[in-house]
Amino acid sequence: MADSIFTKIINREIPSEILFEDDRVIAIRDINPQAPVHLLVVPKTAAYANVSELAQGDAELLAHVVAMAQQLANEHTGGQYRLIFNTGAEAGQTIFHVHAHVLGGDLEEGTLA
Ligand code: 5GP
Repeated sequence: MADSIFTKIINREIPSEILFEDDRVIAIRDINPQAPVHLLVVPKTAAYANVSELAQGDAELLAHVVAMAQQLANEHTGGQYRLIFNTGAEAGQTIFHVHAHVLGGDLEEGTLA
């Protein structure tokens, strides 16, 4: 299967604004922000297409993604944020390599990414 956009970003084959990286995840700024702060936390493994697969396959990695979301929110939005995992094309998922959206910074009431 072809590499996802996120695998290409992780491999530095396409550029992005990388905010954080460790051996398990990378955090980047979304190219098309839906909020004043819109970050993505992406596991480096491409083994999981969505959060349900990740929860079943590696709950510890999912917990790490959530912990990184909090850390980024502390650094970029004062600690309050919305955490979204689009799951399935009908729900708006476009990249089938699991990733968390971290949205923050003066969100309008009622908006969903
Ligand atoms: P999804 O719709 O799959 O939940 O989210 C994919 C997200 O990836 C979208 O918010 C989209 O703007 C973002 N995105 C797509 N291509 C790129 C890219 O090349 N660089 C970055 N930084 N974000 C991207």
